[in-house]
Amino acid sequence: MGFPHQPHPKETVVLSQYFGDPDARTYKGWVKRGGYEALRNALATAPAAVVEQVKESGLRGRGGAGFPTGLKWSFMPKAKTRPHYVCVNADESEPGTFKDREIMRWTPHALLEGAAIAAHAIQAEVVVIYIRGEFTEPWAITEKALAEADAAGVFGTIKVYLHRGAGAYICGEETALMNSIEGKRGNPRIKPPFPAVAGLFGMPTTINNVETLAAVPHILNRGAAWYRGLSLSNPQSTGTKLFSVCGHVQRPGNYEVTLGFPLKDLLYDLCGGPLPGRTLKACIPGGSSVPILTREETEACLLDYEGVVASGSMLGSGGVIVFDDSTDMVYQIMRLARFYAHESCAQCTQCREGTAWTTKILERILAGQGKTEDLDLLLDLSENMTGKTICVLSDSCAAPIVSGIKKFRGEFDAYLAGARSPVPVG
Ligand code: SF4
Repeated sequence: MGFPHQPHPKETVVLSQYFGDPDARTYKGWVKRGGYEALRNALATAPAAVVEQVKESGLRGRGGAGFPTGLKWSFMPKAKTRPHYVCVNADESEPGTFKDREIMRWTPHALLEGAAIAAHAIQAEVVVIYIRGEFTEPWAITEKALAEADAAGVFGTIKVYLHRGAGAYICGEETALMNSIEGKRGNPRIKPPFPAVAGLFGMPTTINNVETLAAVPHILNRGAAWYRGLSLSNPQSTGTKLFSVCGHVQRPGNYEVTLGFPLKDLLYDLCGGPLPGRTLKACIPGGSSVPILTREETEACLLDYEGVVASGSMLGSGGVIVFDDSTDMVYQIMRLARFYAHESCAQCTQCREGTAWTTKILERILAGQGKTEDLDLLLDLSENMTGKTICVLSDSCAAPIVSGIKKFRGEFDAYLAGARSPVPVG
């Protein structure tokens, strides 16, 4: 990405305003652009008032769950009898999602500033940013930015640390992430207790995603009403969101639009539509963990938390994976199931066995050795993998399988009937 970054006229650039501009990475460059003013003002404001501003803005978590950020902050104990922590989830590993990486690469100070504001709001002394192990460049850039900001003394008494993960998808789950920081195996914990009660090192903790925190300085600088006004569809979904688009489109990449933006416009106008001679077949709108949408559902979908649910899926992390008419959906679903089988931490039987068996069954269907009862077996396994485990990795494996069988059953039946040539699955 070169500078200046030329956004599409239909984009609303807030977080991505300085993408491609190396000067914005530096402390001096960030301050020149109004950086750290929001933190200075926040530190002079009562923590509860900062929480209130974020609540009023309507900001919701951009990591996947979409929980209201200000409300989450308000769950932290008001009486300060124990240390409080902020954890930053920079372990972006969801297949199809690559927007937090770009925030850290181009505007690391936006993240650091937002995290320090969060620390003040919840009265935390320490921020730990947990960065995905493979993010070599974002790590180096954020580390340099932190050293510069620390030297300038902008954080006051708040200490900010970077912690590098080792490449496990499951460490993006909030409690697994905390276990990993503590030096334990990155296994999700049973909830409750929730992190606001017993989080990092057993202390009250708030965990937020990179994109969520990077939006906070803008909200404090420009006001909650401005942010709330950035909404094209309904008052529950406010602000802008970065969507990472990959797969069969002409211009894949990150695009920032106001929530409520039509998915069809994102794919056809901003991303240039399908490749020449091809047509859209399906789309996964929120990272690989959410149900697949058909072409018709995709073209009717509005990109906000409620709009994507109404279309039959979830907004998730905003990783949009696009499939054209050349795609073998059975093969793609097998690849997703195989990913989850590989990444399961294996604590729960339904997940450990379910992800492995669904992968094996999908592989045998593709190999031309499927049995007529296999689809019912896959649906039964998926049912037993949903809502019954410690974390949602198991559900994430089941979602594309169930929606895939429901919406593209003909492709499965073709393999089972021998009407489609077996494909290598090794
Ligand atoms: Fe581990 Fe899977 Fe259970 Fe999550 S659902 S805790 S990944 S076994």
